[in-house]
Amino acid sequence: MMADRFGDELAAIVGEKHVQRGDTVDERYRTDISRKYATAPGWAVRPGSTAEVSAIMRAAHAAGISVTAIGGQSGTSGAAVPSDGGLAISLERMNRVHAIDTLSMTMDVEAGCILQIAQEAAEVQGAFLPLDLGARGSAMIGGTIGTNAGGNRVVRWGMMRDMVIGLEAVLADGTVVSSLTKMLKDNAGYHWKHLLIGSEGTLGIVTRAVLRLRPLPTTRQTALVAAPGFEQMIRVMRRLEVSLSGQLSSFELMWADFYETLTTAQLPQRPRPMPSGYGIYALVEAMGGNEALDGQMFEQALAVLMEEGLLSDAVIAQSDQQREALWAVREDLSPGFTPRRPFVAYDVSMAIADMPAFVDLALANLKQAVPDATSLFYGHAGDGNLHANVSNGTMDAATKAAFDTAIFRAVSSFGGSISAEHGIGMDRLPYIGMTRTAEELDLMRTIKRAIDPKGILNPGKVFTMDAQ
Ligand SMILES: Cc1cc2nc3c(=O)[nH]c(=O)nc-3n(C[C@H](O)[C@H](O)[C@H](O)COP(=O)(O)OP(=O)(O)OC[C@H]3O[C@@H](n4cnc5c(N)ncnc54)[C@H](O)[C@@H]3O)c2cc1C
Repeated sequence: MMADRFGDELAAIVGEKHVQRGDTVDERYRTDISRKYATAPGWAVRPGSTAEVSAIMRAAHAAGISVTAIGGQSGTSGAAVPSDGGLAISLERMNRVHAIDTLSMTMDVEAGCILQIAQEAAEVQGAFLPLDLGARGSAMIGGTIGTNAGGNRVVRWGMMRDMVIGLEAVLADGTVVSSLTKMLKDNAGYHWKHLLIGSEGTLGIVTRAVLRLRPLPTTRQTALVAAPGFEQMIRVMRRLEVSLSGQLSSFELMWADFYETLTTAQLPQRPRPMPSGYGIYALVEAMGGNEALDGQMFEQALAVLMEEGLLSDAVIAQSDQQREALWAVREDLSPGFTPRRPFVAYDVSMAIADMPAFVDLALANLKQAVPDATSLFYGHAGDGNLHANVSNGTMDAATKAAFDTAIFRAVSSFGGSISAEHGIGMDRLPYIGMTRTAEELDLMRTIKRAIDPKGILNPGKVFTMDAQ
């Protein structure tokens, strides 16, 4: 057997049972859930404390071994896929909720805690962690910080960047930087946490965070609505922001062909909640605290919008079961998406007002590049975050590149972002120059060199160190 000095060092830190070497590294540490990538990491390690993460990073830094933080692997852009011969560091054992403070409204939680478990822990205490996304059952707090996750409720409570109050992280050389503060307002110097949030594990390993909670809403109203067109639907959103007295919590847009395809595929198990054929659809949710009045306020607000012709139709959930059925139109993607495999899923963003023109241009670009391509558009309207599912029934590198170029060119024309959710990872790295200027990329490289001079933290992700 070949000597494995680095593996032995890892074992001395965390114990042999938490180290995997070479060919024994589990598949879940080699690829993400998209399974688009498969690498051959040299080691996978599962530390149990910040001190162990620090010792691991000191050892990796000394040996010049690259390190990739692994969360729930739900990112799908290859951001959490380790390099060949590198180290995968999974935070899954560091999954404790240390404290929930219902006066300061904060949660002190380790990076390996699964989002849904953190949500449930808050709820038990009468508090609410608003971050919510389809991958809630697998995404981890560290991964959601690494990608600045958003999701269904950004329109009201913002994204992870708005929820991280305090942060603890381990830098490339093993230094632990910790500011596990509960203070919302703090103007003492640079907020280094913002560098790490959304940095896809390229600047440090997040080990623990203090998250902002909210009082747990006690009422929840959900409706599926249809409008004649995009502009009317966005006006509906703006009106509801006011008429629901700040309770509007989700506004999920679905283009007509998305609605038609998804609800057809869900038949006969799930009857279509409202006819297809309207201009555009949205899933609307409000959360509040007045059980006597909130339902009435919600119904009235929608009725007024119907009377004015801004809405063409509305179905309000009358029970939790109906609420689940309405959400399923938007979240139960498998029946509709599986027959479209292989497909490419995009998560782009732009000014909300630019969305229809973007969709038109993206469709025109796609038609020109791959005439038989079909696409479905949907998204989180509040944060300008739009998904496109693009397919032509086959997939090779040239087709994928043609899809990417068609979509990202359209994004670039509107000054938008090529990633609003899943990150740049490896998948979008070749296109980062379409969304960031050369000067911005140079600044990113300067920051990276200052914090990780040996370039061991998640290399080959987000941008290259040489100007492209
Ligand atoms: C069905 C589905 C729905 C989704 N919906 C949304 C959505 O609505 N909004 C949204 O924003 N995203 C969404 N996503 C994308 C994905 O869930 C998010 O990007 C999520 O934040 C990733 O978390 P993760 O734990 O799976 O991270 P991973 O995929 O494991 O990692 C993502 C990145 O974070 C880094 N990372 C992981 N842990 C750490 C750590 N401890 N310290 C530093 N860096 C770390 C990784 O190296 C990688 O670069 C969805 C994904 C799926 C599959």
